[in-house]
Amino acid sequence: METNLAPFIRDTPEGREADSILRACVHCGFCLATCPTYQLLGDELDGPRGRIYLMKQVLEGAVPTATTQLHLDRCLTCRACETTCPSGVQYGRLVDIGRKIVDERVGRKPVDAARRYSLRKSLLSKSVFGTALAVGRFAKGLLPREVGDWIPAEQPAGAWPSPRHTPKMLIARGCVQPVLAPNIDAAMARVLDRIGISAVQIEAGGCCGALPYHLSEHDYARAIVRRNIDAWWPHVERGAEAIIVTASGCGVMVKDYGHVMAQDAAYAEKAAKIGALARDPSEIVGAAWDQLAAKIARTHATTKLAFHSPCTLQHGMKIRGQVEPVLEALGFNLTPVADAHLCCGSAGTYSVLQPELANALKANKLRALEAGGPAQIATANIGCLTHLASGTRTPVRHWIEILDERLALNA
Ligand code: SF4
Ligand code: SF4
Repeated sequence: METNLAPFIRDTPEGREADSILRACVHCGFCLATCPTYQLLGDELDGPRGRIYLMKQVLEGAVPTATTQLHLDRCLTCRACETTCPSGVQYGRLVDIGRKIVDERVGRKPVDAARRYSLRKSLLSKSVFGTALAVGRFAKGLLPREVGDWIPAEQPAGAWPSPRHTPKMLIARGCVQPVLAPNIDAAMARVLDRIGISAVQIEAGGCCGALPYHLSEHDYARAIVRRNIDAWWPHVERGAEAIIVTASGCGVMVKDYGHVMAQDAAYAEKAAKIGALARDPSEIVGAAWDQLAAKIARTHATTKLAFHSPCTLQHGMKIRGQVEPVLEALGFNLTPVADAHLCCGSAGTYSVLQPELANALKANKLRALEAGGPAQIATANIGCLTHLASGTRTPVRHWIEILDERLALNA
């Protein structure tokens, strides 16, 4: 489509990027069919094409309103529209640019600003989040059911193997996952140990930066990215072969560090290298599958399992069809899941900031996941895991924990 960006943005890096994304869109509307919010709300402005149009208007100089902001806020940044788009429109990058400008121009009501601030503060601080979780677990029986359902039981991490192998890979620590589900990273470390790789756990670092970045706090997010690069870089220089991110919501961000830091002369090169080293567990397991397959305990009992592929895995990282064959090889009978491309409604802070839409998407997703009567649900992202687990009694786990457990049977 033709564009004529306003002088305030035209000659900036964001303006140039937004311009080339907008020009790629041919307004065909193919993306509407796979947009979860368009499906729920039926409003063109709550679909990708409408949002692109709104952002184009703002970038061309129109004054955004609270209504513009609302339609952008309702977007999950699930990027299902990118998967469907025949023109390769990078909607996710455009909405990051558009949202920031709209937020700066429109501002936030005090109550909304306070909610976003407290979300960022509590989720990014392990001590604050850990304390809140401990209090929540203690008082779970006294809490309203809809709050208590969000609080998972305490989970032991299990053993972290000693660093006995020469090949090393880093496991990036996230912000909420080590507190909520410490077994996920430990399970990844045990799987690595079985293929002759030692996992290095970096206590420094924490949030990958995705949470503030998608709340339009780009400078704050970049400060976090610099801190992570400083913490990880010495290990990269010592030959770490990869940086594994077990939460796909964080993995997609770390893989994008090169783009996020492209304008930072001091960090751009290191950020690009870190991004190139980032790996999802499915990439590591896929590359070592022959080695791992030989260690899997044979079982004749088939259990039904449903796999939920997070948007950040299938649409963000474009990793599709990698986990399912692993689970089948472990002896699970994978049940069919309708509309597997649709978001579960977790989407970072979305489930807190847009609870009605998030709950509707969760109900739809659980209906699809449980249609085949699975004994458990597997996924690849802590956000999806806790969001889905809050709405079902079916156990929801990270698939790497299931692989680790099955490998342990044969140890
Ligand atoms: S499918 Fe792609 S090109 Fe078509 S309207 Fe959507 S974003 Fe634009
Ligand atoms: S990112 Fe997801 S919610 Fe947002 S417009 Fe695209 S498909 Fe719709």
